[in-house]
Amino acid sequence: MALLFVLGGLEVIATISRNFKFSSAHRMGNYAGKCSKIHGHNYHGYVTIKGSIDSEGYIVDISVLKKYLAEVEEMHDHAYLNELDLYENKTPSVENISREIFRHLKDHINEEMKITLYETENNFSTYGDFL
Ligand SMILES: [Zn+2]
Repeated sequence: MALLFVLGGLEVIATISRNFKFSSAHRMGNYAGKCSKIHGHNYHGYVTIKGSIDSEGYIVDISVLKKYLAEVEEMHDHAYLNELDLYENKTPSVENISREIFRHLKDHINEEMKITLYETENNFSTYGDFL
């Protein structure tokens, strides 16, 4: 879905978003409480790309977004996050996971973007070039 804002007839900014999801296990280090034990989450989130709409009607090639989000899902799905190189010496918190997803996409897509990642219905984190 693209949102378009028009000011005085000039196109200012628009966004396009795409959802992703994966199920992973993790445990939290240096954390008192039940989250210090291994447990799982059905993570879901979305990436939002910000830019102007080109003459073809697009902000970004959605197939490129789809490809790199599939890599993110493949990396994280049914994984024990604490054992991944990606989270070596790092707690796989929802904040750190959203940052790593951002970094992965940013390696391939040179657009302003942000990641919003839900760990539970109530806990989510946003990381990106804009908020
Ligand atoms: Zn957890």
